[in-house]
Amino acid sequence: MFDLISWFDHRDTPLIISGPCSVEGEEQLMETAKALAAIPEVKILRGGIWKPRTRPQSFEGMGEAGLSLLKMAKQETGLPIATEIATPQHVDLALKYGVDVLWVGARTVVNPFSVQLLADALRGTEVPLFVKNPISPDVQLWLGAIERFRKAGIKYLAGIHRGFQYYRETAFRNLPMWEVPIAFARLANVPVVTDVSHICGNRELLLLTAQKALDLACDGLMIECHHCPSKALTDARQQITPNQLRKLLDALVVRSKENPSVISGLVTLRGELDDIDDELLQLLTRRMNVSAQIGQYKKRHNMTVVQMDRWKKSLADHLVMADKLGLDAEMVTAVFETIHQASIRKQTDVLNNRDD
Ligand code: PEP
Ligand code: MN
Repeated sequence: MFDLISWFDHRDTPLIISGPCSVEGEEQLMETAKALAAIPEVKILRGGIWKPRTRPQSFEGMGEAGLSLLKMAKQETGLPIATEIATPQHVDLALKYGVDVLWVGARTVVNPFSVQLLADALRGTEVPLFVKNPISPDVQLWLGAIERFRKAGIKYLAGIHRGFQYYRETAFRNLPMWEVPIAFARLANVPVVTDVSHICGNRELLLLTAQKALDLACDGLMIECHHCPSKALTDARQQITPNQLRKLLDALVVRSKENPSVISGLVTLRGELDDIDDELLQLLTRRMNVSAQIGQYKKRHNMTVVQMDRWKKSLADHLVMADKLGLDAEMVTAVFETIHQASIRKQTDVLNNRDD
């Protein structure tokens, strides 16, 4: 059977997790699982047993009966099995049926009380745990969940990026906001798998989105598969057949993250970047010193720290210059907003004598 623990240690190939949104019955699961097991890239079989539905009249999953089916699929195919858990009872049942990998869903991660209950239920187990991003793009909340599980002694932790609810209609069911999983991966120091199915919400965008995730160095993909997607009881629009999955995986280009044989070609350019970053830090230090002097002046002359007209004009001037230089306006705005805020903090400290 696939050794997930050793994958955690090496992360050598993208981890592909696939299977139906929900386990619906023996025929559906077995047909899907057997076809998926014939795709060598697929390493873990997923299947929802308890489904968090918006309205109670929707299909809410098979519960314990579905766990027997997942177990049967594991015996039949040799694939490790994964399911979502949301309560301590789910944890106990999933472990009783030999579920190999658990994940916490986006609706559960938003609630620290639920996360803590799960962490307590999982204490002392060795089961790898994947934590989906909360529905809102809140890196701290996502990170907090990882910290709760880590404190409970869970060693094999990963994130799942499944996109974020957005107040406007977009082409995606859940907006990817790629910067959020990148920030999360740096802070949480865990692998992050991209659940392209829940990001896209439809089959058409899956390939583009999966390629983008790989290009941004994600550690794997979760893709929902159903032997007959149009008949699926949940998420019918986003599921694909195992055959379509095989074609999708064949079409993807997997790029190397840190390939030692080519990375040496980057040494000079990276050295140059490091020198520039050092210069930027020196410049920022000089800028903050001048800002502090301005703060002293404003204090002596009883002036407000924020001078809105001056701030508006300098940002507008910077954007004109940035445009001439071919720099991205969004980046330049973000950089100067951050610098301006730091300046305001500095001058407020000067005003309140916290800077002596
Ligand atoms: C799922 O994976 O089927 C699921 C319910 O996902 P999420 O928690 O991301 O909505
Ligand atoms: Mn789903």
